[in-house]
This record gives sequence, structure tokens and C-alpha cells, in this order.
Amino acid sequence: MKNPHAPANLDRSVEIFSIGNELLVGQVLDTNTHWLIRSITSVGAHVRRATMIHDDYDEIGTELRAAVARRPRLIITTGGLGPTDDDLTLRAIAAGFNRPLQLDMQALMWVTERYAHIAAIRPNFDASMTESRRKMAYFPAGSRPIYNPSGAAPAMVFEPIEGVTIVSLPGVPSEMKDIYTQSLQPVLAETVGAGGYVERSLVLQQGDESRLAPALIEVQSANPSVYVKSRGQKFEDGHFLTVVLSHGGANLEDVRSTVRAVELLAIERVTALGYIVLRIVGDEVNQ
Ligand code: AMP
Ligand code: MG
Repeated sequence: MKNPHAPANLDRSVEIFSIGNELLVGQVLDTNTHWLIRSITSVGAHVRRATMIHDDYDEIGTELRAAVARRPRLIITTGGLGPTDDDLTLRAIAAGFNRPLQLDMQALMWVTERYAHIAAIRPNFDASMTESRRKMAYFPAGSRPIYNPSGAAPAMVFEPIEGVTIVSLPGVPSEMKDIYTQSLQPVLAETVGAGGYVERSLVLQQGDESRLAPALIEVQSANPSVYVKSRGQKFEDGHFLTVVLSHGGANLEDVRSTVRAVELLAIERVTALGYIVLRIVGDEVNQ
């Protein structure tokens, strides 16, 4: 079945890879993927796929080559940029796309400055440039480093083929978010661009979801670009069955009016089936 949530403009599609053995043994919950999905969705772009993989040299290269072949506009990876030996994302990307790994002078300066800054505020901290610290300044030829305002490892931007951009971010959630919201804005503007996303929940008084099915099909087919989903949601005053309407696109005003039209139809149809719409919650989603 065609994905009803897929927007007409697939140029703004994104794939996400979270990389780390700790994720795949359940030591760490992959909150980065959820945060990235929410951020990308909130500007009306579309996450087509999200994948979790090990810190595995061959697998990272193979998986990213396969992703590039699917031609999303942007691929974001998180994890594996640190100083330890199991942090091998950039090395694996270089090998996967047949590029040599090169010492980047800008990245080396940032890494040097980061440790000098730590030494300035922490007594007895040795800021010397060790091999494991220098490792964070090696980048695939043709890529460029992106400043990390809250940690040592710079992020990376790389365009292995025209029209597909790979961004590699650190795994530490605070660093990942700071780079995304600060240093990465020009890259995001060029790839996923700006836009908006609206999410509205019709909160229903009556709880039998199976009786809703015909109304949902009708509402969904009236405008296939608006995603229609019934689910249970928890609110301060209890659990309710909701019908959630969501839609994103390049123009927030268009998105709003599209959702509004579908919302009126949804209210009419669920009411005709005997449900009572208690209230409608939500609106624009901003992270
Ligand atoms: P890394 O950059 O791979 O060395 O990751 C550093 C730390 O960030 C890990 O030890 C985890 O605690 C955390 N981390 C890595 N990936 C994720 C993720 N996808 N979601 C949440 N935390 C993560
Ligand atoms: Mg790691």
C-alpha cells in the first residue's frame, strides 16, 4: 500500500542512521533518532527510514552506500566520532566511498582549542595532542568538518554524489543537538529547507476503535497527504481514543489550511458514527 504520509516532494526526504554497539545491546536508548525525526518533521521534511547499526567498519560503509543509492536528499548519522578505537564512523565512510582519510587542519585546530579550553578551567588537565585526540581531526577527502560548540569531536558534511548529503554527528545527545541547532543550520537550509508541520488530535469520548475504521478510511482518502491515525493517548484527565491528523510541507499556511479542511471532514464523519469530540488539541510542532 502506498505510504499515505509520503509527501509529493521527495526531494526533502531524509534517512537516519544511529551507530553504536551500546544501542544494539539495549544499554543506551536511541533517543537521538527520535529527536532528529521530530526536528526534521517539524520543518515539513520527511524521514523515509531510520536504521540502527553496530560500530562495524564494513557494515557502516555498506549501509551508507545502499542509503545513497536510494537518493534521499540528506542522510544523518549519529555516533562513532569520538577518540576511542570503536569510534570509526568517518573511517568507515571514507572506505565505503573510496576516499582517503586526511588530517583536516580546521578540525585539528578546533580539537586543540577544545582541550586547551578544558585545561584552562580544570587544574592538572593535560591538553597535549595525543594520537586518540588527533584521530577526531581525520576526515574523508572531499568532506568538511562542522564546528562542535559543546564537545571535542567535530561533525562532518560530505556529498558523495551530487544531490545527496551525508551529515555525521556525535552520539552524545547534547552535542548532537547543539551542532544540529547551531552549526548545521546552513546545511539544513540547503538540504531539507524550511517549512512547517501541524499535528491535531481529536479527543473522542467513546472508546471502541474498531467502529472508527470506515470513517478513517474516508477521511484519509479525501486527502492522502494528511496522515490520519487513531490511537490511545494519555492526557491529564485520563486515557482517550484520539484521531490524529498530521501534515507537513514547505509552506506552513498551506499546511494549516489543508489540515483544517481534513479536520472538518473528520469531525463530521466521527460525529455521524455517534462519537462525541470532546476537544481538539495540538497545533504546530516546534522542537
Ligand atoms: P559515541 O559518539 O558513539 O562515542 O557516543 C557517545 C555516547 O553517546 C554513547 O556512549 C551513548 O551514551 C550516547 N549515545 C550514542 N548514540 C546515541 C543515540 N543514538 N541516542 C542516545 N544516546 C546515544
Ligand atoms: Mg560509540
